[in-house]
Amino acid sequence: MSQQSFSLLPLKAEILRNLESLEYHQMTPIQQDSLPVVLAGRDLIAQGKTGSGKTAAFGLGVLQALDNSSFQVQTLVLCPTRELADQVAQELRRLARLIPNVKILTLCGGMPLGPQIGSLEHGAHIVVGTPGRIEEHLRKGTLRLGQLRTLVLDEADRMLEMGFQAAVDTIVAETPKSRQTLLFSATYPKEIELIAGRIMRDPTRVEVAALH
Ligand code: ADP
Ligand code: MG
Repeated sequence: MSQQSFSLLPLKAEILRNLESLEYHQMTPIQQDSLPVVLAGRDLIAQGKTGSGKTAAFGLGVLQALDNSSFQVQTLVLCPTRELADQVAQELRRLARLIPNVKILTLCGGMPLGPQIGSLEHGAHIVVGTPGRIEEHLRKGTLRLGQLRTLVLDEADRMLEMGFQAAVDTIVAETPKSRQTLLFSATYPKEIELIAGRIMRDPTRVEVAALH
């Protein structure tokens, strides 16, 4: 399949300009298959190997739909580890560079709670975090997800392997039923199908074969 330019997508001019400056000239296969679904507001299950460009496959859709007149959390990205959450947040910040006033916050375990609570008081558009710590903030009432539009489960297979299923279910219960849910995974075990059946609405499935 030939690769396509990002300019074929209905993205804001500043997002396209930034992609040029990052030298992202062509979409990767998973971006090509996922972004039209994400931009249409539909639920998505996407399977692709590490390095296939999954962060931009959801991130550009999320940034396109972002309403920065409100400081309520609009997008929550759940990741299995702090290291992965930091990588996702770093890539989202790169993709958001030319969009004014986008606040992206990471909330992970192993970090002190106090500064996280302080940051949450100032509001954030996008939160990236690990399930245990997100659940803790919900329990304390320091994070509210009543205005959430998009929930992303990144590296969902690893999150389930690490025993985060109950935490994910608790978090999902705090979000609006009308949300968009996007699930990314390197593998597709039965547990993914089960969780998708519980929390997704008629998801589109995208699978990108490994190139090497
Ligand atoms: P994954 O989550 O699938 O492992 P990432 O989203 O972390 O992959 O992306 C892997 C690397 O590829 C990152 O360094 C990112 O900056 C780069 N990248 C992503 N999309 C593109 C693209 N369309 N063109 C060039 N580089 C890209
Ligand atoms: Mg990733």
